[in-house]
Amino acid sequence: MALRPGHLGIDFDNTIVCYDGVFHRVALEQGLIPPGVERNKVAVRDWLRRVGKEDAWTQMQGYVYGARMGDAEMYPGVREFLAAARNAGLPMSIVSHKTRHPFLGERYDLHAAATAWVDEFLRDDAGPFVAADRIYFETTKDAKWSRIAATGATHFIDDLPEILLADAFPAGVQRILFDPDAHHGSIGADVRSLQSWSELQIWFDAC
Ligand SMILES: [Mg+2]
Repeated sequence: MALRPGHLGIDFDNTIVCYDGVFHRVALEQGLIPPGVERNKVAVRDWLRRVGKEDAWTQMQGYVYGARMGDAEMYPGVREFLAAARNAGLPMSIVSHKTRHPFLGERYDLHAAATAWVDEFLRDDAGPFVAADRIYFETTKDAKWSRIAATGATHFIDDLPEILLADAFPAGVQRILFDPDAHHGSIGADVRSLQSWSELQIWFDAC
């Protein structure tokens, strides 16, 4: 892997972790959706909104992020990318905006649940893909932007345009939009949009 970036910063939820399967499974378990609803998070949310179960949706988020993280998957290509990047010596940080507890329902420790998921899944026999002291769960967006700057990231990948396009996003960091379902299209001339982790790997190889 002929990597040229100096330091890759990576968002966590919906960039590394894909929640489509776990939301669908939990909604089925709780009898909230019929089996025919498409197996993705947005389809589950839209169904619950349409039938007036917005509260159930909000509650389900705390439950999934707090109690069912073990059922969450990673996007295709994440494992291969992170292993290759680590082996190539690319510095990486994970910078997430995540509240400590859910807005509603049981007070799960969402940072502990996410950290446990990282410990279990973001590793191989050679060790963790990203060093534990390079993984940050920040409780505000401002803290996330500050942390991205403090890590020295030269590139940052995130699924949310509002994070990448904010005035507070650190200047000079190459913005990469992770858009696996092509919801957004192009969001700006200086934002690179990618639909998969393998595309990111190809781009870095070509730098
Ligand atoms: Mg995200």
